[in-house]
Amino acid sequence: MERAALIRTISSSSLACNRFLFSSPRLARSFLSKSPVVTSRRHYYRLIPNVTNRFLPRRGLRRFCRLSAASQSSSLRFSLSNRHFSSLATRAVASPSTQGSPEIAGVNDEVVEKFGFEKVSEQFIGECKSKAVLFKHKKTGAEVMSVSNDDENKVFGIVFRTPPKDSTGIPHILEHSVLCGSRKYPLKEPFVELLKGSLHTFLNAFTYPDRTCYPVASTNTKDFYNLVDVYLDAVFFPKCIEDFQTFQQEGWHYELNNTAEDITYKGVVFNEMKGVYSQPDNILGRTAQQALFPDNTYGVDSGGDPKVIPKLTFEQFKEFHRKYYHPSNARIWFYGDDDLSERLRILSEYLDMFDASTAPEESKIAPQKLFAEPVRIVEKYPVGEGGNLKKKHMVCLNWLLSDKPLDLQTELELGFLDHLLLGTPASPLRKALLESGLGDAIVGGGVEDELLQPQFGIGLKGVSEDNIQKVEELIMSTLQKLSEEGFDKDAVEASINTIEFSLRENNTGSFPRGLSLMLRSIGKWIYDMDPFEPLKYEKPLIALKARIAEKGSKAVFSPLIEKFILNNPHCVTIEMQPDPEKASHDEAAEKEILEKVKASMTEEDLAELARATEELKLKQETPDPPEALRTVPSLSLDDIPKEPIRVPTEIGDINGVKVLQHNLFTNDVLYSEVVFDMSSLKQELLPLVPLFCQSLLEMGTKDLTFVQLNQLIGRKTGGISVYPFTSSVQGKEDPCSHIIVRGKSMAGRAEDLFNLMNCVLQEVQFTDQQRFKQFVSQSKARMENRLRGSGHGIAAARMDAKLNMAGWISEQMGGISYLEFLQALEEKVDNDWDGISSSLEEIRQSLLSRNGCLLNMTADSKTLTDTEKFVSKFLDLLPSNSSVERVSWNARLPPNNEAIVIPTQVNYVGKAANLYETGYQLDGSAYVISKHISNTWLWDRVRVSGGAYGGFCDFDTHSGVFSFLSYRDPNLLKTLDVYDATGGFLHELEMDDDTLTKAIIGTIGDVDAYQLPDAKGYSSLLRYLLGITEEERQRRREEILSTSLKDFKEFADVIDAVKDKGVSVAVASPDDFEAANKERSNFFQVKKAL
Ligand SMILES: [Zn+2]
Repeated sequence: MERAALIRTISSSSLACNRFLFSSPRLARSFLSKSPVVTSRRHYYRLIPNVTNRFLPRRGLRRFCRLSAASQSSSLRFSLSNRHFSSLATRAVASPSTQGSPEIAGVNDEVVEKFGFEKVSEQFIGECKSKAVLFKHKKTGAEVMSVSNDDENKVFGIVFRTPPKDSTGIPHILEHSVLCGSRKYPLKEPFVELLKGSLHTFLNAFTYPDRTCYPVASTNTKDFYNLVDVYLDAVFFPKCIEDFQTFQQEGWHYELNNTAEDITYKGVVFNEMKGVYSQPDNILGRTAQQALFPDNTYGVDSGGDPKVIPKLTFEQFKEFHRKYYHPSNARIWFYGDDDLSERLRILSEYLDMFDASTAPEESKIAPQKLFAEPVRIVEKYPVGEGGNLKKKHMVCLNWLLSDKPLDLQTELELGFLDHLLLGTPASPLRKALLESGLGDAIVGGGVEDELLQPQFGIGLKGVSEDNIQKVEELIMSTLQKLSEEGFDKDAVEASINTIEFSLRENNTGSFPRGLSLMLRSIGKWIYDMDPFEPLKYEKPLIALKARIAEKGSKAVFSPLIEKFILNNPHCVTIEMQPDPEKASHDEAAEKEILEKVKASMTEEDLAELARATEELKLKQETPDPPEALRTVPSLSLDDIPKEPIRVPTEIGDINGVKVLQHNLFTNDVLYSEVVFDMSSLKQELLPLVPLFCQSLLEMGTKDLTFVQLNQLIGRKTGGISVYPFTSSVQGKEDPCSHIIVRGKSMAGRAEDLFNLMNCVLQEVQFTDQQRFKQFVSQSKARMENRLRGSGHGIAAARMDAKLNMAGWISEQMGGISYLEFLQALEEKVDNDWDGISSSLEEIRQSLLSRNGCLLNMTADSKTLTDTEKFVSKFLDLLPSNSSVERVSWNARLPPNNEAIVIPTQVNYVGKAANLYETGYQLDGSAYVISKHISNTWLWDRVRVSGGAYGGFCDFDTHSGVFSFLSYRDPNLLKTLDVYDATGGFLHELEMDDDTLTKAIIGTIGDVDAYQLPDAKGYSSLLRYLLGITEEERQRRREEILSTSLKDFKEFADVIDAVKDKGVSVAVASPDDFEAANKERSNFFQVKKAL
């Protein structure tokens, strides 16, 4: 059960990422004990919590994804936890760490000719051990990058240049809509069928400010080509351009259930964007982009402004597709170990049907000219009523760095500069801002080079109005000082090592390496530049290092700071002011428009609208006919391996401590985890644990300041992180609760790694009151951000805390309870620092012991053997307390229904119960069934007809908690009604063999999720901690494979426990909460959180 079993376990730990693009919103950053990267830089532009690491266009610059992470149950709690490490500023280049040989089969010219292509260029790219060929389709001019190597995780992507002219969200709505049925696949959503029944390792679609990408990935060749065909048919021959109802469903429409009611707006993108426009960080990011680029396409919102979306007409929508979704305007990417001529054959089938068009000319992105004078913009954002508005301002300085694209050498240098300025807590600009006490957390993404012209942005949030100018001055004076004095030598060395390590390790987490390469290549290719260049980092890197060695880092970086920032007049200062009335104003304005619309309609019009509403609902809720479903190609059960993926694991003993070793090829990198038992910790200390973890890495020792310690870690290792991990264990009363110290280094640096881990654990002193105060305000800002952006995660944690002890512990360290703790702690730091300091010491004393310690290592066998002596020394230095005594934390939150009220335009609605408490015994079929419920019942009712961005369920097989959750949901009680009707849905379910097979295969796809070696070793550790044996994994797999319709029916009664005994938690707007309590006499108890 790799995936399924891991789902919940990680929820309690730190953060999660998943097989989809983004990390689970539920967990992102919540339990983050330390920020291995500049965490704050990530949420600035983040619309959808995304991407596992920084190898990608990292801030996901106002990019929209079809699938919220939340739409998939498996995504909810699954993690490869690579996030703990990734700490890289440059958009480094990926390269497979597989031991590839340069002899990769090519394709002969006759084949190229036969399929209508010509070879434009061909190169071997050492950095990714790949042979890359650029082809051109002769008839249409479509360009194809075909990258061949021995990576089994094959990737395909098709990208169109789609610059919008207004903020109606056309590109975004089209991105959603083309996957709603096509010529060969005439069903409601082939995309969902692929989600249900394929072995994809990646499946999604993204809208950028100027392009739309459709990527898929799979390790199974047959599956891969199935996915490719569905995507190609979808983009070129979608039904949506003839089907007004798809446009209405995904874009916007008026909804009127009966003529006496009010008209409302509905639409998946409409609600997704309302959620986006509820988040202050997003408002800031969008305002900055639009102000930096007032004259070109980046001056409008490709995602759609909810106020403007309803201006979009179906005609405009169709025209946009006709113009831009054309081979002449396409860039196509293939990557992996499949056959090159097969790639061309599949493409020619589609491309040959078109003639050349003028789209490439029409879609060209015009550059923004540089300003002669700086600009200042003041914008309001919604906050809750009451509360202290004084310290709620944000200020951010933004520069457009150049009037044209930069060369790669300069971009790489800017990447290094970015890391030096902001990459770690010790980086001077970041440090200066946080230590100033002027604000709570960093905003602004640093260097952003994903669009035609690069930008730089930096600022603070949680600032009081009279300090705004001070923040601006501090940013400028710090940059001035750095340009005059240069960076510390150790800091430069640490940045170089960190970036090089990351390039060499090429750890893209759960994100396919081929996709990370594609996005990098496209970043230039889309602007008609060389697609090969961005894949080759070796030369510019050597050149940069040589220049630093020869002339010193100051000669390299100071001119960059001067030219691009200090002497650059194209600077936009954004000031964001809290406005407690904004949310209600926006709502009232929308209501007024809708009232006018209604008033302008005749009785007949209204009757017609009600009929159309009904018709759309009916269509949405009618299942596809079996013959349509059968058009989507699928694998058969014979294609599925009968045994789970096994990770080599040897359990040994060093100095009396248990050591797990995984002999895997890791390209000379050693990954290691040291695990400590948390169960002897006093209950009242639990909420302090995340800050304890952060203190270990960011407070310094007697001999080293935290800056020095941080640089030392950067210079010698690939990173160290510390975080708590908590989960229920199936069949046991007591939860599994640990602190994990994770680190990685090159094999030759193993001794340094263990020395530094020891230093962090034993020598760090908890004496720096000011730094601790910053940790508290940063954590508070992070939690508040999370509450707005990932309210479903907060709701889920809250329900868990009512239903099991592990959930309660996690909520203490990452839920509303934690936020309340932080709010109180802020004062306590001033009044009782000694008490806090000694509590931190007490946590260390109770954790740090050889008893209850466990070690996990992943590397090749030689490295493992060579490392043992350092491990032994490390363990010798640990105190060996008498056996760990478990204290009892028997605590749960009261099982009442709660509404956590925040200023938002969309809700997050949850309901959950513990199925084990009703006597249910786990069977593998539960994985298939809950996935099916998410992908059919909840997808159709909560997302498609309900209009939420996501709706899904999650079964924590360790605790037995079954949860329903929705994401950016316009409804509240209605969604709860859908959850309650799930049992009925299962009772009446009819399912042919094909559908059942797909559901099973899709579940196996989750279970067998593609993992890089470090993730394999880590998963194996978690299974060990949770007592999951190989026998159990085999048994569950067999149960999954033999799931029958009867299992679904039996589960109907089980799941009714949620309806009958479940507890509800919603994160909701004040209006919706009040309406709900009126309708169902005080159903929710209110909790104000912001
Ligand atoms: Zn979307």
